[in-house]
Amino acid sequence: MKKVYKAHVLYTKERSRFEVLENGYVAVEDGRVVGVSTDLSSLGCDEQMVTDFGDCLLIPAMNDMHVHAPQYRNQGIAMDLELLPWLENYTFPEEMKYADMAYAERMYRRFIRDLWRFGTMRACVFATIHTDSTRLLMQLFQEAGMGAMVGKVAMNRNCPPGLSETVEEMLEGNEALIAEYNQPDALVRPIITPRFVPSCTPEMLQACGDLAARYQIPVQSHLSENLSEIALVQTLEKDSTCYGDAYNRYGLFGQTPTIMAHCVWTAGEELELMKKNGVMVAHCPTSNFNIASGLAPIRTFLEEGLKVGLGSDISGGHDLSIFRMMVYAIQVSKMHYQKNQDRKFLTLSEVFWLATKSSGSFFGKVGSFEPGYEFDAVVIDDHDLNHDNYSLLHRLERYIYLGDDRQIKHRFCQGQEIKEPKII
Ligand SMILES: [Zn+2]
Repeated sequence: MKKVYKAHVLYTKERSRFEVLENGYVAVEDGRVVGVSTDLSSLGCDEQMVTDFGDCLLIPAMNDMHVHAPQYRNQGIAMDLELLPWLENYTFPEEMKYADMAYAERMYRRFIRDLWRFGTMRACVFATIHTDSTRLLMQLFQEAGMGAMVGKVAMNRNCPPGLSETVEEMLEGNEALIAEYNQPDALVRPIITPRFVPSCTPEMLQACGDLAARYQIPVQSHLSENLSEIALVQTLEKDSTCYGDAYNRYGLFGQTPTIMAHCVWTAGEELELMKKNGVMVAHCPTSNFNIASGLAPIRTFLEEGLKVGLGSDISGGHDLSIFRMMVYAIQVSKMHYQKNQDRKFLTLSEVFWLATKSSGSFFGKVGSFEPGYEFDAVVIDDHDLNHDNYSLLHRLERYIYLGDDRQIKHRFCQGQEIKEPKII
C-alpha cells in the first residue's frame, strides 16, 4: 500500500548540493520511494494517504560504514594510546568476553539500541571470532528491523590465544553463518572480515578471499591506518608492493564489494589499485584523531573518484553519531586546507552525501529519496534549535552540529517505522 510522508524534505542526489522541498511529500510503496514532490496530486496520492510531520525535517537515515560492536563497552576509554598498545591492552581483552553469550547479549542489545537512537539504520559491523555471539548479533539486528552487514572476525596471529582460531574454525563458523544468512537483498547479511593483515597469516587471508569468491560475499577490513602498522605489514607481507596489494593478492580488495576503514596514508599505487578495483573507503575521523593515526585525505579521494563513506569506528572512535562524523570530516578537511589551500575543504552537502547516498550505495539503493531508493529516513523535530526562523538548510546544519538523539522523532528502514530496540 502506498504511503506518503509530509515534512520539509532534504537529501543529496548529487554531492555538490542539497535537494530541498519545503512542505514536501515523499511517496513510499513496498519499502521504496516512488516519488517526491511538493505537489501531492502529481504523486497520484490524496490527503488520506498522508502522514503529516508538520514543521519537522525529513532526511535519509544514517549509515555507519565501520564499527566494532564488541568494543561498545570501551567507548570513551583508553583514548590516550596509539593503535597497537590500544589493541593489546584494551580491545583484545574486551573482545575475548564475547565467548560468553549472556555478556554478548547484554552489550549487543545496547549497541543496537544506541545505533537506533542516533538514526543509524544500516551498518558494516565487526563482531569477534566467536560464531555463536556473531549469530546472536545478526539475530538482534534482524529483530530490530535494522540493516547490517555483520562480520565474524578472522584472526590467527599477533593476537592472544583466546582470540585466535584456526583456518578450519574460521571456515566452519563462516560457512554456518553464510548458510543461514546469505540471502541476496536480505537486510542482515554476512561480510568476510579479516581483522587486518597483521592479525592474519597468509593461509587465513587466502581462505577469506576464497570464501568471499565462492559465495560472492563482500569484504571489510582495515587499511593504512597508522605508520607503525604499515611498517609491520611490510615485514609480514614482503612480496606485496603496498598494504592494499597485500589484500589484493588474496582476493580481498575489490574482487567482491569491499570496504576498507581509514586509508589515512593511502596514496600512489594503493590509491590507484582502490580506484581500479572500486574499493570503498570508510572514513573514521574521530578514530583517526583518538588513536593519533593522522588525517585522511578525503578531498583527494573524491577528486580521484574513489568511493567514500563515513564510520564511527567505535571504540577507536568515541562518538556513535554519524551526524557528528560529518562535522569531524569537515574539520579534518580544513586541517588539510591549512597546509594546501588548493585543496578545498569539504562542504556540508558533500559530507551529508558521504553519510547518506555514498555510504548507502554499499547496501544497494539506499541513502536518497530518488524513486527506487529504499525508504530509510529520520524525522527531526528541531524546534528547540530553531528559535529564530532559520532557513531549512541552516536548520539542518544546526541539527548536524548541535543536535542529538532527542530531536529524532521517527526512524524508518526499508519503509518500516523502527521502534526502540529492547535492552536488558
Ligand atoms: Zn576498526
